[in-house]
Amino acid sequence: HLFEPLDLGFTTLKNRVLMGSMHTGLEDVKDGFQRLAAFYGERAKGGVGLIVTGGIAPRAEGVVGGSGGVLTGEEDVPNHRLITEAVHGEGGKILMQILHTGRYANHPECVAPSPIKSPISRYEPRELGGGEVWGMVEDFANCAQYAQEAGYDGVEIMGSEGYLISEFIVQRTNHRTDIWGGSYENRIRLPLEILRATRARVGPDFIIMFRLSMIDLVEDGSTWSEVEQLAQELEAGGATLINTGIGWHEARVPTIAQATPGAAWSWVTAKLRGAVGLPVVTSNRINTPELAEEVLARGDADMVSMARPFLADSQLVAKAAAGRADEINNCIACNQACLDFIFSGDVCTCLVNPQACYETELSQEPCQTAMNIAIVGAGPAGLTAAITAAERGHKITLFEAGAEIGGQLLLAKVIPGKEEFDKTLRYFRRRLEVLGVEQRLGRTATAGELIKGEFDQVILATGITARRPEMEGVDHPKVLSYADLLLGKVQAGRRVAIMGAGGIGFDVADFLTHAAPNAAQSREDFLSYWGIDPQISLPGGLTGKPDIPEPAREIYLLQRKTSRHGASLGKTTGWITRARLQNAKVNLLGGVTYEKMDDQGLHITIDEEPRILEVDNLVICAGQVPLWDLQAELETAGLPVHLIGGADEAGGLDARRAIDQGFRLASSL
Ligand code: FAD
Ligand code: NAP
Ligand code: SF4
Repeated sequence: HLFEPLDLGFTTLKNRVLMGSMHTGLEDVKDGFQRLAAFYGERAKGGVGLIVTGGIAPRAEGVVGGSGGVLTGEEDVPNHRLITEAVHGEGGKILMQILHTGRYANHPECVAPSPIKSPISRYEPRELGGGEVWGMVEDFANCAQYAQEAGYDGVEIMGSEGYLISEFIVQRTNHRTDIWGGSYENRIRLPLEILRATRARVGPDFIIMFRLSMIDLVEDGSTWSEVEQLAQELEAGGATLINTGIGWHEARVPTIAQATPGAAWSWVTAKLRGAVGLPVVTSNRINTPELAEEVLARGDADMVSMARPFLADSQLVAKAAAGRADEINNCIACNQACLDFIFSGDVCTCLVNPQACYETELSQEPCQTAMNIAIVGAGPAGLTAAITAAERGHKITLFEAGAEIGGQLLLAKVIPGKEEFDKTLRYFRRRLEVLGVEQRLGRTATAGELIKGEFDQVILATGITARRPEMEGVDHPKVLSYADLLLGKVQAGRRVAIMGAGGIGFDVADFLTHAAPNAAQSREDFLSYWGIDPQISLPGGLTGKPDIPEPAREIYLLQRKTSRHGASLGKTTGWITRARLQNAKVNLLGGVTYEKMDDQGLHITIDEEPRILEVDNLVICAGQVPLWDLQAELETAGLPVHLIGGADEAGGLDARRAIDQGFRLASSL
């Protein structure tokens, strides 16, 4: 099904894979449009059927942030032509998404149907006047016309995720009493007028895809019968395709993060498929060709949208088509380098693929002189360095003390929701095999053998070791290491204290609250846990009654600081982890001084008050220190040594930095 063409009447898409819209932040940087052209061109070369750009505003106040993402006049057209020429040059097709961010715009000039601030925004929007709304309709049509002039194959009108058009559609944000508010017919006037004006402007042979919010996941959102009515009117109004929008940005339900099971929302698109004659596109948390094929084969949709998977691997479709799906670098839905970066004002990239959005500056050239390189440590830093250097033509020998590759990712993948790290390890394993990297597993490399090995250079990627704080009773049998616990070498009792509330402390708490942490959550359990109404008969599709199971253990998550627990967790995912721990009644204690551990339990002091936590176990998650004892000896022997990942710096380390450092070093040798 995935590779079947899709006939749209006046044009045909070569397969059923759509690269969904993603804001990259490149519009606002120097040479941004050249970089965007390289970014999309690379994905078109990878065989995707249709690409949608990141959101481009039809007027200045509708930008995401910054100023570059607009198409409001002739002067903007040449920039966009760079993109369309790059994509067409590779035989691809591309739509430009027209996005007005409404009250989500991150600046004080933001506008909305009514002056109601969103819970995730800084600014209260100004209410648009009735005449201004007609002006907005014109602006969308003008923008589409410029897009056509710039060579796009069509446009996507962004009508979901809580941006301006969705804000008009639902009562939650539309309190108007003029022709744009009140009845449902009035509230959907804006999307229908925009579609009508746009179709009239661009003619019949231009793709217009409408991104329709099919389940808002916020109170006072649309009901299913309303969604169906709007979809049918969009069909009658001349839309070519309908794309699925799931949840507003302010929704308190995970829609794309790791906590969301694969293809968790395709049933929503399936509900619409029978109600309209147009092809429908499903989206959200579909990250492999196998899953996409399953969704299409089940008849849930006519086409599958994947967005972040194209950051992770530009060649996804080509690899799948060539029967090399096991060589795809899968998106693991961590959001760490894409959405979290965008929300911090940085250019988007990808944890597993540092080249994403840096195609023009991080291209991989063959090496000038092939070298014999030893890499010590097969965590993400060493693995990335190994495959990158081997791809460039170096001869690599990879040493790993453990019986298998992975380093700490072997621990991360047992955390509920982080199972996708297993796919990253599968990718590394396969690439090492394809590239013929010599692997010496199950033995600790010594300076002696590295010196004798006649290597030209050595890369130390030996990672970290867990910090063991000085505390009376730290060697008590009740004290466990997180590594032993996660690897199943030891079991925890019913009551557990965790020392350290960093990323690993939170993960260990989540792990311990589950009776069977390794069992991936089913779609049904996910929906009932977050209180989703599978009929979408209630507004926004929320039941208001989440079904939360009793936690498997009583947990205390401790830190010495008095600041908020979990402040350093991911910007777009931290709230999910915090909500899960709250649901599991985890006790968060701050301002803790650790006194001792004994048979009675953990002795602590908070606000000068001594307390004993009568726990069965204490798990230490108190950060890490580097492991690089080989460096001095190797350098004394005259060997050039490079340090990457945790071996370079333990503070602030994560897999993103480890992979980025491994890639950049190996690209430079
Ligand atoms: P490591 O992964 O520590 O790998 C070093 C390797 O070197 C090890 O395999 C070790 O056996 C080997 N080695 C050491 N000395 C020698 C020697 N002398 N000879 C041979 N081999 C040797 N990061 C994220 O970005 N996102 C997450 O969601 C995330 N979740 C995590 C969850 C958990 C539970 C844990 C424990 C970590 C998590 N991390 C996460 C952190 C991430 O896994 C680490 O930052 C990353 O693995 C560090 O990579 P590295 O290659 O520097 O070192
Ligand atoms: P961390 O985030 O630095 O947290 C260490 C914790 O230990 C802190 O809560 C710290 O808080 C405490 N601590 C430090 N020194 C201590 C001492 N001497 N005695 C007692 N407590 C001490 O480190 P981590 O949790 O080990 O995580 C390691 C890295 O992996 C992090 O950089 C993180 O980014 C990454 N990671 C990321 C994710 C993710 O989802 N993105 C998940 C897991 C790990 P107090 O000083 O207040 O006690
Ligand atoms: Fe996927 Fe994470 Fe890469 Fe974002 S950073 S594209 S979520 S793997």
